[in-house]
Amino acid sequence: MPYETKYIWLDGKFVPFAQAKIHIINHSLHYGSAVFEGIRCYKTAKGSAVFRLTEHIDRLFHSGAVMGMKIPYKKVEIIKIIKELIRKNKLSECYIRPIIFYGNCMKVDPHGASVHFSIIIWPWGKLLNKDSVTVKTSPFIRIHPQSSIMSAKISGHYVNSSISSMQATKAGYDEALLLDYRGNIAEGPGENIFFVKKKIINTPKKGTILPGITRDSIEKIVIDLGYKFVQKEIKPKDIKNYEEAFFTGTAAEVNAIGKIDNYKFGQGKEGKAVKEIKEKYIRIIHGEEKKYEKWLSYINA
Ligand code: PMP
Repeated sequence: MPYETKYIWLDGKFVPFAQAKIHIINHSLHYGSAVFEGIRCYKTAKGSAVFRLTEHIDRLFHSGAVMGMKIPYKKVEIIKIIKELIRKNKLSECYIRPIIFYGNCMKVDPHGASVHFSIIIWPWGKLLNKDSVTVKTSPFIRIHPQSSIMSAKISGHYVNSSISSMQATKAGYDEALLLDYRGNIAEGPGENIFFVKKKIINTPKKGTILPGITRDSIEKIVIDLGYKFVQKEIKPKDIKNYEEAFFTGTAAEVNAIGKIDNYKFGQGKEGKAVKEIKEKYIRIIHGEEKKYEKWLSYINA
């Protein structure tokens, strides 16, 4: 199993991998009420470091608050535990998945249910296994912002992601693209999307998307690289006005999009702008850019 490590942290203890089990009477399993994060740890010259750990933990606690969870740990404790889990599992690079879920309750309203917290880590390569991916506009739209709270990373939201991914990959594409309820481009099932026209980078506004932490990093990086960063409403008919497009996300990192439906960007390969942004991002996550070292939490610090 690719996810197997020595330890998983569950409800206050580091337990051997095979013993990290939960009961079938579990609110989050039945109703999708868990909240989670996806974080990455990278090798640097000063040892392993977790990228934007504080921001991910802030978002996790925000998601927990949205779901009404009383989290029995402080953020600083969780940060310490994540670093210890990486050290104990002796992984120099890994993906980190904290998850908070409701336990012993079978009513839809989880009021009074037990709250559980687990952290799993495993070595994980890039999510999208190609330098340039093909994308299919999904017949499913992104969740209406009045149907949930889209700034929270709630397990249940991922039914919308999974169903659109399955539809796209079955049709022979690498990934899906979801529109919002107004017909604007929203995001991928697990990635934010960006478009490039000369020295301008456009990305959909917040509201119907998960405001990605990578998206926030990219905003700062592209401004630094001399691009103009503009958040705006983008319609599918606007795609042909752009020279390049890319996805970002903790798991996907920075990944060129070669084609959306029948429209090919240039040769359908990674273009100049995406290459430049991706290379800068890779340098930053590996601690090779002093200015951005503030985004790294060293596991031995
Ligand atoms: N949108 C969705 C739907 C996602 O699942 C993710 C991955 N967390 C992202 C965007 C990118 O977010 P981040 O950069 O914080 O990983």
